[in-house]
Amino acid sequence: MNKAIAIDGPSASGKSSVSKGIAAELGIMYVDSGALYRGVTWQALRKGVDTTDSAAVIECMLNAEWDFFVQDGASTFSIDGDVPVQELRGKEVRENVANVAVIPEIRKFVVESLQSLENFGSLVMEGRDIGTVVFPDSPYKFYLDADPEERAKRRYRELVAAGESEKAEEVMESLRRRDKIDSTRKTDPLVVAPGAQVIDSTSMTLEEVIQTIVDIVRADG
Ligand code: C5P
Repeated sequence: MNKAIAIDGPSASGKSSVSKGIAAELGIMYVDSGALYRGVTWQALRKGVDTTDSAAVIECMLNAEWDFFVQDGASTFSIDGDVPVQELRGKEVRENVANVAVIPEIRKFVVESLQSLENFGSLVMEGRDIGTVVFPDSPYKFYLDADPEERAKRRYRELVAAGESEKAEEVMESLRRRDKIDSTRKTDPLVVAPGAQVIDSTSMTLEEVIQTIVDIVRADG
């Protein structure tokens, strides 16, 4: 039977690196659920849609042609024939994505799209509501956390490595803002899923976190 491993947690808690590591170790597909919210945001921005205008964002999402496929062990998608990758990581998308992710109709579209990916086989999916909403019945639910200062440091290093020139205080501030929006929104807020194992990675190495989860999944057969 296909396995769906859910990895939830706040921004910069290490979800991406951990999930990619688990996928590589277990030879299963990696899915970045946030990319889909970013994809809707990118599409809205390139069509000149104001992301605080929910009705316009929904219309824009419905008018686009979405296609899902697997590439290099990761699920990916095209929007109107284009495959945005780097575009999803830009500042404009980052600053608008939380507006888009609070829209219930957008969440419904993304959640259903994510659930359909199970048809491709076993997967590890990172996000904010994977264990609570997307795969609530999965026996493999994990919630990754780390101190806010540690998360801000990690995100800052990532941005610097990607050539972005942001100030450390701004990164901390933007992280706080997103944490607040994500954990207080009405639809599918970021919470620990019932039955999820909480892993605090503040003082763990990436390898330790990956191994902890892989061991639990393997022990289960
Ligand atoms: O994980 P990432 O930072 O790419 O996610 C971007 C945004 O998408 C998050 O800040 C959050 O607003 C939203 N998101 C969500 N539910 C998910 C994944 C992402 O609401 N499962």
